[in-house]
Amino acid sequence: MAAFRKVLIANRGEIACRIATVLRQRGIASVAVCSEADADARHVRLADEHVLIGPPPVAQSYLNQDAILEAARATGAEAIHPGYGLLSENIGFARRVAEAGLVFIGPTPEAIEAMGDKARARETARAAGCPVVPGSDGPVEDDAEADRIAEALGYPVLVKAAGGGGGIGMAIVEQPDKLARALTSCRDRGRSSFGNAAVYLEKYIERPRHIEVQVLFDHFGHGVHLFERECSVQRRHQKVIEEAPSPFVVAHPEMREGLTRAALAAASAIGYRNAGTVEFVVGQDGRFYFIEMNTRLQVEHAVTEAITGVDLIGWQLDIAAGLPLTLQQADVTCNGAAIECRIYAEDPEKSFVPKPGRIAAFEPPTGEGVRFDTGVGPDTDVTPYYDPMIAKLVTHAGDRAEATTRAIDALERFRIDGLTTNRAFLQTILATDTFRQADYDTGWLERYVKAARKAQA
Ligand code: ADP
Ligand code: ADP
Ligand code: MG
Repeated sequence: MAAFRKVLIANRGEIACRIATVLRQRGIASVAVCSEADADARHVRLADEHVLIGPPPVAQSYLNQDAILEAARATGAEAIHPGYGLLSENIGFARRVAEAGLVFIGPTPEAIEAMGDKARARETARAAGCPVVPGSDGPVEDDAEADRIAEALGYPVLVKAAGGGGGIGMAIVEQPDKLARALTSCRDRGRSSFGNAAVYLEKYIERPRHIEVQVLFDHFGHGVHLFERECSVQRRHQKVIEEAPSPFVVAHPEMREGLTRAALAAASAIGYRNAGTVEFVVGQDGRFYFIEMNTRLQVEHAVTEAITGVDLIGWQLDIAAGLPLTLQQADVTCNGAAIECRIYAEDPEKSFVPKPGRIAAFEPPTGEGVRFDTGVGPDTDVTPYYDPMIAKLVTHAGDRAEATTRAIDALERFRIDGLTTNRAFLQTILATDTFRQADYDTGWLERYVKAARKAQA
């Protein structure tokens, strides 16, 4: 099979821009889709052609499967890259793409389904020999059963929506009398956000670190890992700063072998192909536990590209076209350290509330070891319709300390007027001793913000 000639990008923002750029580099024609709010967007200008698919709300545009499939048909695209979020993990969409005779640039619908239900994914991972967090066997049906399981696990426990994502539908329960309410709220969130009211229980790992492994598999069962990323700097269970390699793994080098082997085993067990990420929580004792697999490209994939020099989107395209993954494990090496900062149009002073507005001046930082992925530019309106992430700054250097310094400097040089962003907040975080020493856990950022507020008051 040859590479594609024309690919439709079913996404927006920085990731749609990135995909369009990779397509151009490879001589593949690109088709953007856009909502009415994005008619002048950067991703539209970077693509060779574009199709307007509907009004601003995502339900009527970027999630409008009929309109996207029709756009692919009308433009003669052979394949669809879903990016991340939006339709990237939608089983029905992946099926419809195939039924339309197009290629979905991602895993099979069966693989998405196997990992899409997080309660079932735990079983799959465990059967493959990948350690999972102690918890319920599958979803918990009633409150009495949940009580018994939580008691056996020992509090605190975590209630999670089986269909969850983006940190939504999760609740930490510290004591038995709070369990019933958490079950109800997670069931409700699961039903309203993901159309799935099933919930399951996990032991809450105290002061955990979030470490994940990037994998790539082709259609012939050949796969490699591309080392790990650490994403422990989070707010509301959402990543803000990510890095590769994980400083925790660097400090405990004996972990890497088991961690990457477990990730490859989980992916192999479902006949995975294309790019994917296996996520783990890691205790302070260095024990790691599978939490979920994201069957798509992740926001933070760029730090992996920086340290390995591997073009993940390029491989996604080749693999989807049926080409073999010629990369061998021994070819994948880890050079230096990379850090990603997610730049949001939000107000860190006001609980990180999104701050839409019009960008006036906009000049991305440049320089050695600096990559800046964005979907906006001067005169762009950041609307309330979409995720408020406007850019990703990725810095790469020979070591972590230098990558951190580069990030702080690049944030300083980044010029953006007219919009409230978390730029200064990111600089403050990067400059803390805790970040410098990587002495953080997933609760650190929120504790830090709370303490800073108290000190101000
Ligand atoms: P990831 O799991 O890739 O690290 P997050 O957990 O931050 O991503 O994001 C949660 C969900 O929201 C994911 O499904 C991600 O794809 C989606 N998402 C995050 N940012 C955006 C964005 N700017 N546009 C669309 N979807 C997004
Ligand atoms: P989502 O599908 O929303 O991304 P995850 O299951 O990946 O949800 O969990 C999101 C975050 O919540 C993780 O990055 C981690 O910080 C935290 N987390 C998840 N499971 C546990 C656990 N069992 N113990 C402690 N923290 C956890
Ligand atoms: Mg996750």
